[in-house]
Amino acid sequence: MMTPVRLCRDLVLVGGGHAHALALRMLAMKPIAGLQITLVSPASHTPYSGMLPGLVAGHYRFEETHIDLARLCQWAGARFIVAAVDGLDPAARQLSLPGRLPLGYDVLSLDIGSEPELASVPGAREHATPVKPVAGLWQRWQALEQQLEDRTAGAPTQIALVGGGAGSVELALAMARRLRGGRWP
Ligand SMILES: Cc1cc2nc3c(=O)[nH]c(=O)nc-3n(C[C@H](O)[C@H](O)[C@H](O)COP(=O)(O)OP(=O)(O)OC[C@H]3O[C@@H](n4cnc5c(N)ncnc54)[C@H](O)[C@@H]3O)c2cc1C
Repeated sequence: MMTPVRLCRDLVLVGGGHAHALALRMLAMKPIAGLQITLVSPASHTPYSGMLPGLVAGHYRFEETHIDLARLCQWAGARFIVAAVDGLDPAARQLSLPGRLPLGYDVLSLDIGSEPELASVPGAREHATPVKPVAGLWQRWQALEQQLEDRTAGAPTQIALVGGGAGSVELALAMARRLRGGRWP
């Protein structure tokens, strides 16, 4: 008797950031027969980080800078689960999700991004606003902007940026523009 070939494979993508958004797009454009795709992400919208400084500066709106993952999955024929994975059992090929049944997979892609190790810099967690994870940057920026408005009441404000990479420079210029009411110096 011939062993049946298992055509249907479950691909599970954990993390709805840049990498998996692009992977989903490519899989939608070139589908693989019999492949069932599931995306697991705690956030329903993922930012395109290259445009985030422009959002902070006021050049773009939220919808222009964020990808709607539910719509992307619908277009790609993938299942979308809004959750943060909190456990992985490679032997059983299962993921655990809070308040849900375990999720099985044949092939797993894990890309949950990066974030600064705030605990290694005393005071950073309490007094700084991290740029990463990029998924929540817009909400954190809005909270910071509100704090600045409440605290300064028109007085000059100084913001210190830690890290001098391209993203930092872009954000510094964007914040300066935003806080000057959209005017350049
Ligand atoms: C201001 C700024 C500007 C940038 N500009 C550029 C640029 O112009 N060009 C460029 O190439 N790069 C740029 N970058 C870098 C870029 O953002 C990162 O390289 C990119 O986001 C990495 O993609 P990723 O998919 O690995 O992770 P991310 O995009 O960070 O995505 C990770 C995802 O995993 C999810 N996640 C986290 N934990 C879990 C969990 N437990 N279970 C399920 N999901 C989880 C998160 O919600 C998120 O959706 C910029 C970064 C910043 C901060």
